[in-house]
Amino acid sequence: MLEKVVIANRGEIALRILRACHALGIKTVAVHSVADRNLKHVAMSDEALCIGPAPPRESYLNGPAIIAAAEVTDADAIHPGYGFLSENADFAEQVEQSGFVFIGPRAETIRLMGDKVEAIRAMKDAGVPCVPGSGGPLPPEDMDACRRCGREIGYPVIIKAAGGGGGRGMRVVRTEAELEAAVQLTRSEAQAAFGNPEVYMEKFLENPRHIEIQVLADGQGRAIHLGERDCSMQRRHQKVVEESPAPGLSEQQRQAVGRVCVEACLRIGYRGAGTFEFLYQDGQFYFIEMNTRIQVEHPVTEFVTGIDLVREQLAIAAGEPLRLQQSDVVLRGHAIECRINAEDPDSFMPSPGCVSNFHAPGGPGVRMDTHLYAGYRIPPNYDSMIGKLIVHGEDRAAALSRMRVALGELIVEGVKTNIPLQQRIMGDAGFVRGGQNIHYLEKRIAERKDKGIKLG
Ligand code: ADP
Repeated sequence: MLEKVVIANRGEIALRILRACHALGIKTVAVHSVADRNLKHVAMSDEALCIGPAPPRESYLNGPAIIAAAEVTDADAIHPGYGFLSENADFAEQVEQSGFVFIGPRAETIRLMGDKVEAIRAMKDAGVPCVPGSGGPLPPEDMDACRRCGREIGYPVIIKAAGGGGGRGMRVVRTEAELEAAVQLTRSEAQAAFGNPEVYMEKFLENPRHIEIQVLADGQGRAIHLGERDCSMQRRHQKVVEESPAPGLSEQQRQAVGRVCVEACLRIGYRGAGTFEFLYQDGQFYFIEMNTRIQVEHPVTEFVTGIDLVREQLAIAAGEPLRLQQSDVVLRGHAIECRINAEDPDSFMPSPGCVSNFHAPGGPGVRMDTHLYAGYRIPPNYDSMIGKLIVHGEDRAAALSRMRVALGELIVEGVKTNIPLQQRIMGDAGFVRGGQNIHYLEKRIAERKDKGIKLG
């Protein structure tokens, strides 16, 4: 096993990684910014090092400072969590070249999946069903070719940045007349945001659900899938609620798409935890991208499978062969996660500041992953997610009812939060029925706004 791990992240995921390490007897090093001195995992880690000022560029995105921290503390591995440097192939490469284990896939896999055009090509070759699309980058100098492509695919289409991520760098085009401007605009945005102007075209699916498959692979010829998560409750392409299993998906469909993902993992020599994201419409799966890291919503899978994904990441990184077989993965009951954000529940404006009072819910099948405590000051420099509330029940109705009780118990005072929005969603007739598409939440929010109904 590993002996000492640098946790190159912050907030709830840093705490989650610390707990997994300590449970395995692995020592931890928290590297943090000046603004994050008072984070819970910083106090709980065996060693802590301040690596720079509050802006992520100067701390959590500062690869050399993180590698230097691993050197001075004599650590053997770096866990990047999610976001920040977790999907940065150059960083993964530098970590390994410096003699440390990067807890994630090989750099070349990250590089391949980080370029969505290349990723789709590789997945198509591996037999994974993809959205009908341009099959490659759009030629910037050849609008005629772009127009032909649009006609072949059929409108509406979506222009997406090859280097995109985090729900940014996408534009829907409904008619050919809008195409040229949309391609140019998305190109310049992509250049500015991701340093790569390349864009590609996909059929815009009108009413898909977002369903993703969790995988684990050891990079030594073994891979399994851990079922799916339905993440269709989104706002601005950002997930708000996630659940597993996906309502209405049959065991046969689950195993079929899961097998395809496992095959693809073996084919590309995937190592670690990963997620294949699909849009799902009319009974068909369409691959959109692969995330080569642990995801925010991993706990719902942990609840229904009983498997600790971060523990498995650590074991794989230590070079151990995957100890689980596909037959060990049995889904039990239903799990739901609500992301808790420090933001205005109506305007969605971030609401940093001091948490004057905090109380986490509890009871059977209730898990709260958060770094909050009473007196903690949420800095304005980072993502507004301050925790995740996850529940498990014997079926979806039981999970829903546990979530309602748990949200009712959760107290976060001093800052605004989206708890009222989550309570609304858990009581919403459409959500309770299940199986809504990715536009559902935004439509409901817009309706409420039109009627002037406020939650906050
Ligand atoms: P990112 O890497 O930025 O998260 P994705 O490719 O995963 O980008 O897409 C994010 C979200 O954008 C999806 O969950 C879905 O809501 C929407 N989306 C992406 N591609 C399409 C498409 N072809 N048709 C309809 N919606 C799409």
